Amino acid sequence: MIFRELVEYYEKLAGVSSRLKMIEILTELFGKVTDSEIAQVIYMTQGVLAPPSEGIEFGVAEKMAQEAIAIATGYTKEQAEEEYKKSGDLGTAAQVLKEKSRLKEMAHAKQSVADIYVTMRKIAETGGKGSKDLKIRLLASMLAAATPIEAKYLVRYPLGQLRLGVGDATILEALSATATGSREFKDELERAYNLCSDLGFVASELLKNGKRAIEQFHVTLFKPIRPALAERLSTAEEILERMHGRAAVEQKYDGFRVQVHKNHNSIRLFSRRLEDTTEMFPDIVDAVRKEVHADTAIFEGEAIAFNESTGEFHPFQETIQRKRKHGIKEMAEEMPLHLFAFDLMYMDGKDYLNEPYEKRRESLEMLLKGSTLIRPTTRIVTSSAKELESFFSDAIENGLEGIIAKDLEAPYIAGARKFSWIKMKRSYKGALSDTMDLVIVGYYLGRGSRAEFQFGGLLCAVYDKKKDTFETISRIGTGFTEAQMGQLKAALDKIKEKSKPARVDALVEPDFWVYPKYVITVQADEITKSPMHTCGREKQPDGTETGYALRFPRIVGDEAIRKDKSIEDATTTQEVIEMFKQQKRVGIEDQ
Ligand code: AMP
Repeated sequence: MIFRELVEYYEKLAGVSSRLKMIEILTELFGKVTDSEIAQVIYMTQGVLAPPSEGIEFGVAEKMAQEAIAIATGYTKEQAEEEYKKSGDLGTAAQVLKEKSRLKEMAHAKQSVADIYVTMRKIAETGGKGSKDLKIRLLASMLAAATPIEAKYLVRYPLGQLRLGVGDATILEALSATATGSREFKDELERAYNLCSDLGFVASELLKNGKRAIEQFHVTLFKPIRPALAERLSTAEEILERMHGRAAVEQKYDGFRVQVHKNHNSIRLFSRRLEDTTEMFPDIVDAVRKEVHADTAIFEGEAIAFNESTGEFHPFQETIQRKRKHGIKEMAEEMPLHLFAFDLMYMDGKDYLNEPYEKRRESLEMLLKGSTLIRPTTRIVTSSAKELESFFSDAIENGLEGIIAKDLEAPYIAGARKFSWIKMKRSYKGALSDTMDLVIVGYYLGRGSRAEFQFGGLLCAVYDKKKDTFETISRIGTGFTEAQMGQLKAALDKIKEKSKPARVDALVEPDFWVYPKYVITVQADEITKSPMHTCGREKQPDGTETGYALRFPRIVGDEAIRKDKSIEDATTTQEVIEMFKQQKRVGIEDQ
């Protein structure tokens, strides 16, 4: 396929906001792509070069893109910058200058999707001394041969600003429709995606080897599995009732989630967002090498700094702060990380995902027999609510976050939030018992004493998993430190949008819309019904329509933006509805 044709589809996508329409456009596109091109087209559409586990970044800054535009159009860097200031989008600046350029006649080389992908990858892989100039030249060469519309996307892509508004769920449905003529094969495709977190790989398997390859898809070493997530409940009785009267109850540690992949001496670690974090935890890699008794294994745990002699845990925030101050090596000595392992997915050639929890746990304990830095989580198995409560209180007393109960019979459910894991966290007096992770979709300008920061607050949304959209739940105007305001303003200015982004569902209008990209953690006192927000919006018996909103929301943590969470990891509409019901019940019982 030539790049020009792909870009025509991108232009069509940018012009629609209905998800059905997007699926239709993508289905037509995927139908025209060969099986050797499909992975590249999928990555491009996701705005990346490879899945997160490969850790490939473009390393192209705006200034570099401006230089490339100048070279390719015959204008100066300053003129490119001037044009950028007018529209606020460098892609548009490239398009405008290409249209006016005297060097236009070069634009008739037909670059293929594969040519562009390979050159983009070269740009990303070029590092070290002199790499900046080489990156600029490579980008300029593609721009020189491009039409104005192509130029727009060639600039946006390496800057991470493609913003097509297409989520993974939409791509999966379109792939299903392409291969089978209906959207029903989506669940199978999603299962495969959950097992390898590589959408390009799944698409290519589907086109090359058909439906059967997807039906028989299994875990692969060094391709991270999308993590299982926990539901929440607020009482021991409810938890036991959901778990058929008996459950395992594990301590919940507030650290970093780590998925370990081991093949003899090769060891790689992946984060909750499936990024390769091997370099960050040399002490854990060492421990895996020494303490894990299997040639091949995939297992998961929570890494947390733990002082063996005092029994003290140092939570997430404190651990990163220390790491920043003292460096990775020093911290490893001062506050050794321990890995509290909680699940086993694969061992010595056997896939454990479909084994029941109890069986996985037994094998996990065997895998880690006699180890010290890596150990299974502390847990009990109980059918007594009283025992569960007292285990929970002990955990809180020891400085932990709470507990996670696990269904003894359940398989490992990759990439989904199900009641086979239920968390119960410490509750703050006068506040909801849990924080929420919200997606920033807009921001407000500062007024009064805030005017100097040009930042007055955020418009935030939750994720509606069924509709694959982001629905607003709250405006957050308080609780920010000056450093946070500066950080947020700088990050959000780069992703401003002229109008409401396609996947955002909103009734209120912020001063600036931003493309959904960042997640923040928020604590609120209460969930209330509200006519202003679209989260869970429904017609009421009296004919009015209301959604949900937050009362007294405030940001938590020193770093405003949660780098470890992607927008699809945010709290969902369905969870908000659940939390609203639980809160109501607690309220009634209290009276
Ligand atoms: P939350 O982020 O509050 O939804 O809680 C889920 C997270 O708790 C998981 O992603 C893990 O990183 C972490 N966690 C800590 N201890 C455990 C445990 N024993 N079992 C499962 N997850 C745990």
